[in-house]
Amino acid sequence: MSKPTIDLLPTSALINEDRSPLIIAGPCSAESEEQVMETARLIKEVPGVTVYRAGIWKPRTRPNSFEGIGVPGLKWLKRVKQETGLKVACEVANTAQVFEALKAGIDILWIGARTTVNPFTVQEIADALRGVDIPVLVKNPVNPDLQLWLGAIERLNQAGLKQLGGIHRGFSTFDNAPYRNMPKWNSAIEFKRLVPELPLICDPSHIAGNRELLQPIAQRAMDLAMEGLMIETHVNPAVALSDASQQVTPADLKKLLASLRFSKVDP
Ligand code: PEP
Ligand code: MN
Repeated sequence: MSKPTIDLLPTSALINEDRSPLIIAGPCSAESEEQVMETARLIKEVPGVTVYRAGIWKPRTRPNSFEGIGVPGLKWLKRVKQETGLKVACEVANTAQVFEALKAGIDILWIGARTTVNPFTVQEIADALRGVDIPVLVKNPVNPDLQLWLGAIERLNQAGLKQLGGIHRGFSTFDNAPYRNMPKWNSAIEFKRLVPELPLICDPSHIAGNRELLQPIAQRAMDLAMEGLMIETHVNPAVALSDASQQVTPADLKKLLASLRFSKVDP
């Protein structure tokens, strides 16, 4: 596979200055102002976490489930930023969402796995972001197609985005057991070989689908020298409106992070 040329800024909000892993945590979905703020206040106390995530628009697999709070949730993320100093991140899946997120001052955007599969939508998002210097993380597509993943990153880069990174969230196949999405670690290894300049963050939550499986997945990602982790964290996972079984409490996030051996990556 040919190596893509990606033109990046020498420093990026997606890479910690001391090269420690970038830790992103927060609920799958923003559900209420109280849930967003309480989760954020507790996450703020977890060593290592610098970015708060929350899905505002949710791409649900089946209809009639919670599809996200929408625009009102952006104000809550703004409040998280002001009151905790954490950077805030959300998924964008179309140009209208891009404009709303930019207007609200969201610090980091990510492209979800169901969007990365569609070059038309990725191109529209890239065009909407032309001339905007905002970090964007691109999740792998739902299917294990490295070219499609890299192609989405190239589209953003060619629109002038220079703070970019990948998120490895596993791949959907008919029989994923024991995972929700198969990690296919070789894809992460190949991604790092082809574009070593791009930070690669692991999302053990969507690989696992179950909080009991998170630890070994996160450790494996660190052993592969991946540059960070995105871990879904909810003040009360049992009542979460999406992905309840894979979310952890902030206290369990703290324990999980403390249990990891981080491989030292030379700057
Ligand atoms: C999410 O991060 O909540 C999400 C919807 O993830 P993915 O796009 O990886 O399914
Ligand atoms: Mn989720």
